[in-house]
Amino acid sequence: MSHRPRHRNFDLIVLGAGPAGAAAAVTSAGAGLSVALVDPRHFPRDKLCGGGLTGRSMRLYREIFGQAVPPVPLERRDAIAFHAFGEDLGTDRDAPPVHLGMRCSFDHALVEHALCAGAVDFTGRTCTLDVDTGTVTIEAGQLRAPLIIAADGVNSPTARHLFGTPFDRRTIGFALEVELPDRAPERALRIDFGAAEWGYGWQFPKPAGLTIGVGGVLSRNADMKGALRRYLDTLGIHESLPVKGQFLPFGAFRAVPGRGRVLLAGDAAGLVDPLTGEGIAHAMLSGAEAARACTDALAANDPDSALPLYRKRIAPIHTALRHAARLRPILFSESLRPAFIRSFRDSRSLRREYLAMLDGQTDYGPIMRRMALRLPGFVMRAIRGV
Ligand SMILES: Cc1cc2nc3c(=O)[nH]c(=O)nc-3n(C[C@H](O)[C@H](O)[C@H](O)COP(=O)(O)OP(=O)(O)OC[C@H]3O[C@@H](n4cnc5c(N)ncnc54)[C@H](O)[C@@H]3O)c2cc1C
Repeated sequence: MSHRPRHRNFDLIVLGAGPAGAAAAVTSAGAGLSVALVDPRHFPRDKLCGGGLTGRSMRLYREIFGQAVPPVPLERRDAIAFHAFGEDLGTDRDAPPVHLGMRCSFDHALVEHALCAGAVDFTGRTCTLDVDTGTVTIEAGQLRAPLIIAADGVNSPTARHLFGTPFDRRTIGFALEVELPDRAPERALRIDFGAAEWGYGWQFPKPAGLTIGVGGVLSRNADMKGALRRYLDTLGIHESLPVKGQFLPFGAFRAVPGRGRVLLAGDAAGLVDPLTGEGIAHAMLSGAEAARACTDALAANDPDSALPLYRKRIAPIHTALRHAARLRPILFSESLRPAFIRSFRDSRSLRREYLAMLDGQTDYGPIMRRMALRLPGFVMRAIRGV
């Protein structure tokens, strides 16, 4: 669809059409708001990502987009091989299913759902936001709305505009990935804790090929390329492949996700889980919750109440991220690591709790309680209270 407005008013402008923005657009359009969905990229577009969709992501997709499964090629796996710091921790063969696919097609499907729900298509348009007037300028004119949801990714120009920087370089994660498009996906779905410092590696089989990556806290990984090379060696892959990298906003979310009438969602709000690296589920949920907050605020004729309403709605995401951040030093500190490895390898129930958490059946609480039983007293005290 082509639109060449000089000046158009909407109830809501959504900046960014990844999982967070598409979820915001489909939810607000479904609630009857007039919504502009703006993204400088044309869809389908690439997005560097493992493309792992946990049970949590699949359930949220169903709830938010109203379809049973995304209409895109997905590899389904019910077995996950865990490794940590070079040690084999075993394979869980009847794990809750994880689906794996390419973000290019997944994100395109989400945008199509949002447009079908009534969001107006401004993808493929470069834009600038004037926060004070709620005006988004695209090359063909201006869009105005009382409320804006900025789901413009980890490098969020909106967060930079509001806070001077999109993220904190001391805490930000960084990840590198390679694609092996011709590789038959007979390899295991595999996760390696510690393949990067304060991070992990992943081997994700896809319907057409394999995605392999490493990611960790940037400030602790002066040589992330070396970490990727060592991980590929471990997996028996020695050919030279094009490497792509991107920041991964885990560990330090924005406690106040926005300012005034601008709400940040997804990576722009720093909502990637620091232990699992999962970001798609929180992106979709935060986008939908931002849209619900905007819908309620507009119904009350009080746009200024949207941000406080949104903060309340995403408090459970913030709690989960806080819990993951408290567990992270246990996993990665050298003194506590052996206890973690022993617990994860020997305790089927702990692995089950982890898989149930990945699947979205539980949160981090049961894992933290189980770890507390197995770790020294001072750690117990540190993580007690969940
Ligand atoms: C290497 C890597 C592997 C990962 N693997 C996984 C995984 O397997 N599973 C998982 O759940 N998560 C994974 N993640 C995290 C996941 O990719 C993100 O958390 C998720 O994409 C966040 O969605 P989003 O909608 O917030 O942002 P994005 O998906 O980044 O979308 C942001 C959109 O904003 C647009 N944009 C940029 N600037 C502007 C602007 N000025 N105005 C409007 N729009 C703009 C961009 O074009 C983009 O389309 C991985 C991340 C990395 C880096």
